[in-house]
Amino acid sequence: MKNTDSSVMAWEWAKNGDIYYITVPGWSRQGVKIGFTSRSGGGSRSPYHQLNLGLHVGDEYDRVVANRKDVVAAFASSLNDMVCCQQVHGSEVILVDENMSGSGSEIYATALPGYDAMICDTPGLLLATFYADCFPVFFFDPVKRAVGLAHSGWKGVMGNIAVRTVQEMQQHFNSRPEDIQVLIGPGIQQCCFEIGSDLADRVRQEFSPSTNIIYSNGDAYRWNLPETIRQSLFQSGIREKNLISCDLCTSCRSDLFFSYRKEGGITGRMAAVIGLE
Ligand SMILES: [Zn+2]
Repeated sequence: MKNTDSSVMAWEWAKNGDIYYITVPGWSRQGVKIGFTSRSGGGSRSPYHQLNLGLHVGDEYDRVVANRKDVVAAFASSLNDMVCCQQVHGSEVILVDENMSGSGSEIYATALPGYDAMICDTPGLLLATFYADCFPVFFFDPVKRAVGLAHSGWKGVMGNIAVRTVQEMQQHFNSRPEDIQVLIGPGIQQCCFEIGSDLADRVRQEFSPSTNIIYSNGDAYRWNLPETIRQSLFQSGIREKNLISCDLCTSCRSDLFFSYRKEGGITGRMAAVIGLE
């Protein structure tokens, strides 16, 4: 784990009841609710076992809502305070306020349509996005007291959704990039994310002159998504000391996480949540 090389920030596992999740204690101490769940806890059955939080993946509705209630309770929150976006693998960011509370928390169709990232400075709301291989990118500005959350799969990386989230925080909260702290959560790492040569060429072109992003071995190409996100964020002014990544691979660790690729597309979803107390 490379989470200890920063004196300022670190992530760690936490447990609340039987819910086992990744968190950032340094943010919690400053009044931020922050977590990324694992499969542990919950009542869903195979192939959604156990803590499936995705409403749109074919699991039994009542079990998913019960699982979601358990998760928000673990963060001393409720489904009325939870805000979800539809996650269309785009790169649009929305400013969330109290009028949107409860969006998508029990009915997928009411999730904020067309968005993959949310920013918020309203205490009491809990932003939530859902995952099975894509990367959650969490943002906290301790100076302006604002948070953000971006769902970034490869399409989101191509659309620079993490950088766009920072730009929206600058615009709406007057955040300075050098103050914003970032956690890139677990996702499908370079060990498992094989892509075709056409896409590899596009990535090299798009992110030139960044290096260590595409690895090739004969005809096979693998893309390091979190490294791509990191380098893009540094170019937008995020400081190295303010960015940490969790290098766990959701595809390698299907004991801990749901993986769309590893499990052939039929599986559950983890949740990323962030909000101000
Ligand atoms: Zn892997």
